[in-house]
Amino acid sequence: MNKFKHPLIKCLISDFCPKESAAASFPMAYGNFVGGDGGIPKGGSRAMALRMEEKFKFLGGKSYTNKPVKKIIIEDNLAKGIVLENNEEIYGDYIIVSCDMDYTFNDLLDKSYMDPVLKMMYENDKDYLIYGMFQVAYGIDSEEDLLKGEIMLDCSDIKIAPWMGERMTIKTYAYELSFAPENKQILQVLLPIDVSAYDNVILCGQWISPPGGAPGAAITGKFAI
Ligand SMILES: Cc1cc2nc3c(=O)[nH]c(=O)nc-3n(C[C@H](O)[C@H](O)[C@H](O)COP(=O)(O)OP(=O)(O)OC[C@H]3O[C@@H](n4cnc5c(N)ncnc54)[C@H](O)[C@@H]3O)c2cc1C
Repeated sequence: MNKFKHPLIKCLISDFCPKESAAASFPMAYGNFVGGDGGIPKGGSRAMALRMEEKFKFLGGKSYTNKPVKKIIIEDNLAKGIVLENNEEIYGDYIIVSCDMDYTFNDLLDKSYMDPVLKMMYENDKDYLIYGMFQVAYGIDSEEDLLKGEIMLDCSDIKIAPWMGERMTIKTYAYELSFAPENKQILQVLLPIDVSAYDNVILCGQWISPPGGAPGAAITGKFAI
């Protein structure tokens, strides 16, 4: 980023993703947009997930919610099913894991099943950095959308701790009427923070598709099998 001199070009890069992000973030976001996957789902991502669940059930699938999975059942070198926290066992031809990798390879499976590329990424944590963000959302009394979208600004003058980033994003969501009751608005503030197998077990979710994000996560699910 410091190779560029113009402050607007620097901001374009710093405001698009945290500084620890992989360079792949840029072509990936571009690919999402030109591929038609970069829009805003009607009702937000929760409504989208509920529509996916409906479609899944319509096609004959069964859905279990609020039932954490505690283990993947392995028999004869093959994943056969899952064990829920209440010890109920559910069997299937394929086991698609979409929760975070730390839980997957510490609780659901053991680390020996980790894909070599993922293992290499975990072992080289200086080259494959993890980034964090702090977010706070306010419900405010207002009939109109005061920001009309999103602004990004320099907040170095209010930086009070070394972990705080120097750019801040402030957003409103008035375009989605279902997000807030009448005469109320959501105001969200985001601040980057500095932080440092088996054949039929298929990983999906944002963790295997840096830099993360819902479009990438959805695509990994779509092409899981
Ligand atoms: C505040 C915020 C704002 C964001 N804004 C955007 C945005 O504007 N655009 C964008 O593209 N992305 C955005 N993202 C990122 C996006 O939400 C994620 O990239 C996406 O949800 C990742 O999907 P996933 O399926 O990989 O993981 P998740 O959505 O985290 O799904 C994993 C699921 O696994 C479940 N789970 C975990 N452990 C177990 C277990 N043991 N048993 C059963 N279930 C389990 C969890 O409950 C969860 O439902 C945002 C994220 C946050 C937090």
